[in-house]
Amino acid sequence: MALQRPKGTRDHLPDGSPQLKLDVSARAFKHVTDTAARVLERGGAAFIATPLFEEAELVKRGVGGSTDIVRKEMFMVYYFGDHGGYVLRPEGTAGLVRAYLENGLKQLPSPLKLWTHGPMFRAENVQKGRLRQFHQVDYEVLGSADALVDAEAIWLMVQVVRELGLTGVQVRLGSIGDPQDRDTYNAYLRELFTPHLERLSDDSRDRLERNPMRILDSKSAGDQTLIAELSVKPMLDFLGAEARTHFEAVRGHLDSWKVAYEVDPSIVRGLDYYRRTAWELHHAHIGAKSALGGGGRYDGLAKELGGPETPGIGWAFGTERILLAMEQEGLSLPAAEGPLVYIAALDAGQVPLAARVALGLRSVMRADFGYKPQKPGNAFREGERRGAVFTALIGSDEAAAGTVALKHMASGEQLSVPVGELSALLLARPS
Ligand code: AMP
Repeated sequence: MALQRPKGTRDHLPDGSPQLKLDVSARAFKHVTDTAARVLERGGAAFIATPLFEEAELVKRGVGGSTDIVRKEMFMVYYFGDHGGYVLRPEGTAGLVRAYLENGLKQLPSPLKLWTHGPMFRAENVQKGRLRQFHQVDYEVLGSADALVDAEAIWLMVQVVRELGLTGVQVRLGSIGDPQDRDTYNAYLRELFTPHLERLSDDSRDRLERNPMRILDSKSAGDQTLIAELSVKPMLDFLGAEARTHFEAVRGHLDSWKVAYEVDPSIVRGLDYYRRTAWELHHAHIGAKSALGGGGRYDGLAKELGGPETPGIGWAFGTERILLAMEQEGLSLPAAEGPLVYIAALDAGQVPLAARVALGLRSVMRADFGYKPQKPGNAFREGERRGAVFTALIGSDEAAAGTVALKHMASGEQLSVPVGELSALLLARPS
């Protein structure tokens, strides 16, 4: 049997592939990243690209030493038979903040808005919506703790999915306060859970010591039952005055821009460097794994990575999950654009000329040509199949006269055009 792609990875395929569905369409994939690029760059974000692998230490600090990602889901990078202390990136933020610090991007106008997209890697148990290589679009802002920056980040995320045509999306917004608020909350949780130690999962017993907030995130059904029974108060009830004012300011901006959201008191983030605003973007129809993406403020991260205190906030969505949601909503892509002209030679002798004319046009338009001579009927059918606006034929008469026989496919109109005038005529007659 022919070799197959690794489990938990995907091929995104070109139009016309057998049984192509939207969620594996390469054009759909590109449509998502193009749309994100347009929305984010209109919003002043600059594109940045960072390595697909980073020092394991960076990733550990970035996602927190005790999280599942570090414990179970990191892909080590081996080369020349050696383990290099590197891992494939499981998410984009840590590498991006490292790049900001390492390259002195603090000197750029602040706050600095950056965006990127690309593959992320996690050694997951593969299931619907959970891949080992998936892709994220990432937006990050460094250098400001202003609530307006938070609200704008949420607005941009919503705007990307809106411009993709998705309607079944929902923003769930919360705040996890400042470090001292979290200390108070963790003390409350410790007191609450300690009498029920024997009912907690092993993981959560661990968390009770180090980071009780993460118990609320537990995937264990037993833990979740206990959490429900104890009617745990949400983090939101523990916000200090400053964090509360900040949260209200974020909400005020979103309300005034008519961005719909629900306050979700259950949103927690277990890592110390997270501050204040945190949110998730959900979709109604993609099942249990309904999160399209999430975001949050991480003012403590730069320091955690060894840099100076630098406020930051960002979000990421999963490109594959977005595609799944688009497919669920029955969205279709904008029509594929064909060439403006398809040029066919009628005899083998004119094939190189057809190629030369097409290549000459390519600096100003999309132009294709046939590699083999074709009869006029076949050439027109081929032009139509490729979605060409015009089809041009070159036979021996045309070659001798320095012209092409041009057909406008939609109207059927035909005329003879000197090669030197072709470009101007084609550009003047789009559609
Ligand atoms: P996270 O970085 O875990 O907050 O994930 C952000 C988003 O990335 C999620 O909401 C998903 O859309 C996507 N994502 C995370 N893990 C995976 C995965 N294993 N497979 C596919 N998409 C994922």
